[in-house]
Amino acid sequence: MLDAQPKYRRIQLKISGEGLAGPGGSGIGEEALHRVAAEIKSVHDLGVQVAVTVGGGNIIRGSTLAAQSHIPEATAHYMGMLATVINALALQETLEALGLTTRVMSAVAVASVCEPFVRRRCVRHLQKDRVAILAGGTGRPFVTTDTAAALAAAEIAAEALFKATQVDGVYSADPKQVPNAEFYRTLTYDRVINERLKVMDLSAVDMCQRNHIPIVVFNLHKPGNMSRIVLGEPVGTTIGKG
Ligand code: UDP
Repeated sequence: MLDAQPKYRRIQLKISGEGLAGPGGSGIGEEALHRVAAEIKSVHDLGVQVAVTVGGGNIIRGSTLAAQSHIPEATAHYMGMLATVINALALQETLEALGLTTRVMSAVAVASVCEPFVRRRCVRHLQKDRVAILAGGTGRPFVTTDTAAALAAAEIAAEALFKATQVDGVYSADPKQVPNAEFYRTLTYDRVINERLKVMDLSAVDMCQRNHIPIVVFNLHKPGNMSRIVLGEPVGTTIGKG
């Protein structure tokens, strides 16, 4: 496998807030940060350009906050978007501690801590081997960072959307609750949408389908998974046109 060539030149990775969380699933976990950064470095070292969209659910999920408080839902969603900026800054410092060069770009203006997302500038960062960390979701409320990641993948012409999860890929039911749930190695976009399989937001799946971007759903907790996928090994679930 030493002389294997990467299957992709540019990927869009989606890391949920949960993937960066501490042991209790909230806040930012030191171990989680290092695990994610090491995975990103491993594919970057293979010569793959990486853009990462970070979620914010470990800090604030807009719909949950709005349901539990007097805060109007739109405001709660903006708070969720700002949470993704917090995660992005943590990931930036961790990646840079590993020697990578990064830029955080946000769809919500937070000029003191990062750049605004500008598509052409983002592509330029990638071409210069910088990891682009995309924060702020889409910049608009009522959607999630899954949709932001799919949009970004289309905008920057990523060859695949890597969706990091806590399980091995897509199953017929939640494998944590249904032990004999069926694991899918491949799926079509249509099947994911028609059967409403819990992979990512259906709008994100639809966006990838329309732009012919395969989605690879994989386990973030297995070190080396990302580079295995990049080198063409059958890891996780691949969603495509079939
Ligand atoms: N959010 C939003 N617009 C976006 C992306 C995110 O309003 O384009 C808000 C939304 O409230 C969401 C929160 O930010 O709950 C955190 O993002 P998300 O839930 O996608 O994070 P993840 O589940 O990936 O950790």
